[in-house]
This record gives sequence, C-alpha cells and structure tokens, in this order.
Amino acid sequence: MGRRGFSKIRLIVQVVSLLLIITSCGETKTVEKPELKPDTIAVVENERFGFDLDEYDVYLDTVRNGWTWGNILLPYKVDQYTINTTALAAKDSTIGLKYILAGKPFTILTKKGDTSRAVQHMIYEPDVFSYITFDFTQDSVEIEKKERPTSIDRKMVSGVIHPNSNLSVELGKSFDSYMMSAAVVDAIEGVYAWSVDFFKLQAGDRFVVYYDEKSVEGKPYAVEQISHAWFEHRDDGMFAFHFTDSAGEVSGFYDHKGREMKRPFLMSPVKFARISSSFNMNRFHPIYKTRKPHLGTDYAAPTGTPILATADGTVSRASRSRGNGIYVKLKHNKVYDTQYLHMSKIADGIRPGVRVKQGQVIGYVGSTGAATGPHVCYRFWKNGRQINHRSEKFPKSEPMKEEVLPEYMKYIEPLKKQLDDEIKTLKDYTPDENENS
Ligand SMILES: [Zn+2]
Repeated sequence: MGRRGFSKIRLIVQVVSLLLIITSCGETKTVEKPELKPDTIAVVENERFGFDLDEYDVYLDTVRNGWTWGNILLPYKVDQYTINTTALAAKDSTIGLKYILAGKPFTILTKKGDTSRAVQHMIYEPDVFSYITFDFTQDSVEIEKKERPTSIDRKMVSGVIHPNSNLSVELGKSFDSYMMSAAVVDAIEGVYAWSVDFFKLQAGDRFVVYYDEKSVEGKPYAVEQISHAWFEHRDDGMFAFHFTDSAGEVSGFYDHKGREMKRPFLMSPVKFARISSSFNMNRFHPIYKTRKPHLGTDYAAPTGTPILATADGTVSRASRSRGNGIYVKLKHNKVYDTQYLHMSKIADGIRPGVRVKQGQVIGYVGSTGAATGPHVCYRFWKNGRQINHRSEKFPKSEPMKEEVLPEYMKYIEPLKKQLDDEIKTLKDYTPDENENS
C-alpha cells in the first residue's frame, strides 16, 4: 500500500483510533494501518520469495567468511560445472551480482522428502530491499532479481507528557521498536527545534503527530517525513505542516498562518542531553567553591556528542583557555554572539573566519577547563551582554510569499481539521496528589 492508498483507508483508520481511545488506558497510541485481508486471492500460508514453503524442504543458512559459490551449492548436489556457470551468469546478467558476501542469508529449497538434498531453488538476499532467485530445475540456471514490496504509510501518534518524563519516554510507550521510536522523536525535534525547548517540557504538554513511515515487507524501518503535527507547550499549541508548493519554490515546515517554522536560533546546541545547570546570577560554583554568576546554560551529554551551531554565523574564536577549556565562539550578526565551552575537540575545519550554518557540527562535548563532567556550557550575548537565551523572545519568521499563501491554506485545511479532531480526544494531564514535579 503506497501513499495513494491513504485516503481510502483514512476512514477506517479513524474508526480504529476511536476504538483505541476507548479501550486503551495509556496516553499514547499509534494508529496502525488496518489489516486488509483479500478474500478473492488464495492466501498461501507459508509463502516466501514467491514459493509455498510447505511444498519444499527448506534450508536456511548464512554465507560465512571466505565462502565461494561452491561452499553454498556443493552440499546440495550441484556439480562444479554448474556452479561455475551460475557464478558467471550471476555476474554477467543484468543483476550484476559479482560477489556473494559473508553475513548475507540464503535459502535452499529441495524437493520435499528428497534425502539427497538436490537443490531446486536457491534464494540469496543481498539487502533488505531485494532478493535473487536461482532456478535449478531448468536446462540452464535461471536467475531473477525481485524487489521486496516497500510502502509508505501514514501513521499517527499522540500523547501527553507526564511529570519527570520526556518525549522519548512518552513515545516509547507506543512503539515495539526502539529504532522507530527514536526516529519519530528525532523527526519531531527537528520540526520544532526552533520553537520548543525540549528540555523545558512540562507535565501536561501534549502532541499529535502524523508522519509517513517507510516499511519493507511490512516492517517499519524509517520515518520518511512528518506530514502535519501539533505540539502544545505550556498551553501554547503550535501547528506544523510540511508543504511544497506546486512551483517547487517553497518547501519546509510552516505554521497554520503560513509562517516558516525556522527561527534564528536552535533552542539548544546538543540533542538528547539534559540541562545540568541553568543561567543563574547567584550560583555556588562546584569548582571555585564560591558564589559566582553562571552566565550560561550547561547541557550534560556523553563525551563526543556533537555540538551544533545554533544559528548561521562566522567563527570568531576556536581556541583553548584555562577556565573555558577548548571552546568555539560564533558571531551571528551585529546583535548576537554564542559560545560553546569545555569541548573535547573542535570539529574539522572550524577556525576563525569560517562561515557556519545553523545545525552544523562545530565541536564535540568534553570536560576540558573548569568542568566536573562532560557537558557543554552554552553562552549567549545580545549587544555584548550575556543573557539567558532560554528566556529571550526571538522575532517570528516572515510569512510565506503572498502568491503561494492561498495554495498553502487550501492544502492544510483538511490536515488541520484532522489535527483539531484528534486534539479534542486528547486527555488533559491533571497531576494527582501523589505526584511532585
Ligand atoms: Zn556553564
């Protein structure tokens, strides 16, 4: 089922999601594509690679180090001549299979009950997207490459942040696969990186996210794209729609008024970290053992975690000092500068005068200088004065071009309605007496 199938199943999906809301006591849910059971096609119970495996004896194996075609085929009664022609044919055919590789799975099918194990078909799997079949029942070996069915399906996930929790934890409740859960978190943080401080999420923050999931043979393996989403932080709900106009001039995430989601500064210079010390004019310093203002925000993260430039700018310093350790300072414009301290290492090519893009890796987390553990101390200047970037209000982005706006508003109308409907079903989080956050 490809992207086009979505509108047809949308109604069913909504019915399923209603059922889930009623029957589920958790706060986060995934709407799975309803299982479509064709009733006019004979369904082979144990079908794989286009074969009914119940009709064969099946041998599953994996190519070992140093193996050649002979190691695979000789035990299954293939003579050396046929092995050579098979290897040649595989190489010369349009499939262009030059080598068999260690670690790749293969399957041998023999006639049911054949104790001599003479191969009839062999299937070699070069990657997750395809497999190659070898038919040994003909006069000459027939080789075919088959692509596995891949699909992109619209999925929805929603939830409420609980006390002492975060997006990863809440989303994790909806996924069997950590890989997919992390991919969705990453995608959400990407969309809202400019408008939500994911370190400041509060109990009661809520979200609804529709995204396109990539699967091969029904197994999800990646997020293609977030389609539309809503994230409510401190009672401030923010819509995001992915949009490309018909002329292909405008593309990105925009809010419900058509304003681009991009902001001048990323909310934080590291992903997946925690704030270990906030901007504080009266902090007791753990190393200097005195009260001195902490004019930055510390993000604790494992040594080696990439540190990102929070905005486009020019490197003004890439250096080392006793207190700062290894650090980089960026000049963004006449008003703003940022600085990143205690790095283990400066990224390749980052030196004074070099231009950097927002989100570019400029260094790696460490604990050089006056630091008790691996973290990045992020400092922010406005007109030469250090300020707390987390309480700074940045100007909203410009609206999109006047001529594109009508097309955009028309495009988002049904999507926004879908979000609005889903938001109505979300529970508010109300803390009970046992919880302290
Ligand atoms: Zn600091």
